[in-house]
Amino acid sequence: MNFGREHVIEPGSNVRLSKIKSQQTGPFEGKDAAREFTAETNDQIRDLQYRLFVEQKQSLLVVLQAPDAAGKDGLIRKVLGRMNPQGCRTYPFKVPTKEELAHDFLWRIHKCTPGKGHVSVFNRSHYEDVLIVRVEDLVPKKVWDRRFEIINHFEENLACAGTRILKFYLHISLEEQLERFKKRLDNPEKHWKLNTGDYAARDKWNAYREAYEDAITKCNSKDAPWFVIPADHKWYRDAAVAGIVRDTLEEMDPKMPPVEEDLDEIRALYERELAELEGKK
Ligand code: ATP
Ligand code: MG
Repeated sequence: MNFGREHVIEPGSNVRLSKIKSQQTGPFEGKDAAREFTAETNDQIRDLQYRLFVEQKQSLLVVLQAPDAAGKDGLIRKVLGRMNPQGCRTYPFKVPTKEELAHDFLWRIHKCTPGKGHVSVFNRSHYEDVLIVRVEDLVPKKVWDRRFEIINHFEENLACAGTRILKFYLHISLEEQLERFKKRLDNPEKHWKLNTGDYAARDKWNAYREAYEDAITKCNSKDAPWFVIPADHKWYRDAAVAGIVRDTLEEMDPKMPPVEEDLDEIRALYERELAELEGKK
């Protein structure tokens, strides 16, 4: 089944998040069918990722951005983190350290981009530097405003070097977010996640929305497209992202390298070893 692609934002178009429904469930009537799809698709992703790793020619960068509790962690646990960790790494980007702040905003990001054969998953990213930084007024407008262009050049540079980029915005409603905050309050295992800052960000929901819309609209290209993933239903979020990642890897079509050794010779070596072993019995 192919789906998920319909959530792409066409480059050049103006995104309006309020026009996109966060409760969509695509072709699924319920969670069981979606979970089954995700499990099968995860297996296909693993096979394709194996070929990517062996081929060593291309790489994949997955960028995750979302309001709190939209499910970046869950998506990593249930889909992206299921790839073979030998060729896939997740990088969370938190409040920059003193050392990071002493450099340009892409310094810490560039170091984590995937080399050939590898996949990087960014849990938050360089987009924070035009989102929280803008809404919280951490640098002047003239500084963050130039970053859209800088980000476009940066992503173009990665694409030229053979990196496919997929950017996902996990789209949840204010109501669903509050519901998830309540579940965190009710579950002692999740108390470590509670923080007053999450509630403060709710007061600035519209300012964040505007910042997201600007970032998605201004930094969106064929090589580095944005997808707005309806994320009120966790099972739909996982299925949609899994479908898009699988389709993208299929499009990249990583190939096993040609065999350079002489297989007949290797077979003969094997036969010799086997005969020797049997002779020792
Ligand atoms: P969780 O879903 O578990 O809450 P999280 O990604 O929100 O995970 P936190 O440790 O709660 O992780 O928050 C990280 C914070 O760092 C976020 O508020 C984010 O906006 C902030 N941050 C990330 N990058 C930057 C940046 N470049 N400048 C300022 N703040 C940043
Ligand atoms: Mg948080």
